[in-house]
Amino acid sequence: MSEEGAGETTRVKRQKIDDSDSFFRDFLKKEIERELLEEAYTSLCRGSSDMVFRILKVMQTNALLSEGFSRASCKVKMYEKERTDKKPLARLYAAGSIFKNGIYILKKFLAPNPEVPVDGEQREALRKLLNFLLQDHDSALLESEKCDEAQWAVRVAQHLLLPLTVADSYTIDDYYDGLKKILPQCPCKTGERINGSLGDTSFGWIDGWHGRSDILVNSVAVDLAYPDMPADDDLEVCSSVSSSVSSTEVKASSNFNEKDQQQVLAQTIVFSFLQRKENKLKGNLKHCLVPGIGISKKKAVIYSYDCDEDVLLGSTQMDLFGYKSICYNTIVVLWLALNYKIFGTGITESMKNYKAEFFNRVGSFLENYRNDVTRTLCKKHKRSDEDTGWTKNGAVEDKIAVNADNEDLGIKMKRL
Ligand SMILES: [Zn+2]
Repeated sequence: MSEEGAGETTRVKRQKIDDSDSFFRDFLKKEIERELLEEAYTSLCRGSSDMVFRILKVMQTNALLSEGFSRASCKVKMYEKERTDKKPLARLYAAGSIFKNGIYILKKFLAPNPEVPVDGEQREALRKLLNFLLQDHDSALLESEKCDEAQWAVRVAQHLLLPLTVADSYTIDDYYDGLKKILPQCPCKTGERINGSLGDTSFGWIDGWHGRSDILVNSVAVDLAYPDMPADDDLEVCSSVSSSVSSTEVKASSNFNEKDQQQVLAQTIVFSFLQRKENKLKGNLKHCLVPGIGISKKKAVIYSYDCDEDVLLGSTQMDLFGYKSICYNTIVVLWLALNYKIFGTGITESMKNYKAEFFNRVGSFLENYRNDVTRTLCKKHKRSDEDTGWTKNGAVEDKIAVNADNEDLGIKMKRL
């Protein structure tokens, strides 16, 4: 059985794909797409254009109560550093700094003498990204204004997540009402047969945080924020997180509310413990920095937790769409996160100094999170929605030199 649970045992045959060198060469000839990918690569290396991770500390949590993810409380604040005038700046890390394998592959591919990975899985991942960037994928996502939450979950899984991963299937939470009637047909205009299935997406520690993620794909838990609920004006937000965001700015980006963010945080933390138990301890995972993804109709957010080192990272709320098109930066960082088993290189040395303090918050119950997290729970939990935002200013650390060529990541490339 696949590690995604029973739902993903229904495998669909992979479509015949163009894996030839000429596919890669053809992409590089497309000036605009190539340039947009180069810009995304540079942003990921430098931490520009919001391609950063903040380093977070848990201030308050209800992780010791038996709570569903939708009721998880996980208040965080950003680690800061001071400018010379003593004004605080968020401590930011270039988003590429935890995905050095992926960055290396992009660098070699975009070099004057382009190279592609020799390894089949790495090569397939790169092909999937390029293929996605070339296609008009946004229509199925953009035309989704009228569809309900369950149908939208299918569109996101089918048209955004799966095309960016090396997986060939996904599991959608089978608690969604009404999907059984329409599946296996996709609710988009094309109405193609979907590559995923409904299934049990639950996981967690039953006496602590637990619940179901909306979508499981390629060993990543994805949570959807559905924005139709009215925003809650009495939100309690830790001051350091929102201090420089005015209330109007919060409303303008009204896509992820505070509760959604805490839910993704809790899921990310628990899923990291689950991956440690299922894979790291068996030698199938080099490190425990495991991402969790939140998707709203317009934004994406990525958290990442290392449950060995107790380090928690969080992205900004990134735009999924720009002018009539997808945002390349966001797509590329989602691609890196969704394929973290190939591209992820774990936390950097300097991140180790900034602990999330989750270990302290749960005390001796850390052992329960380490040992008792499991899949396929049987409790029922509801969804919920509200509103908040993130600051965007800070100082970027752990940048990657855009043209550096002195790394040895053990990735074999060959000339195109
Ligand atoms: Zn579709």
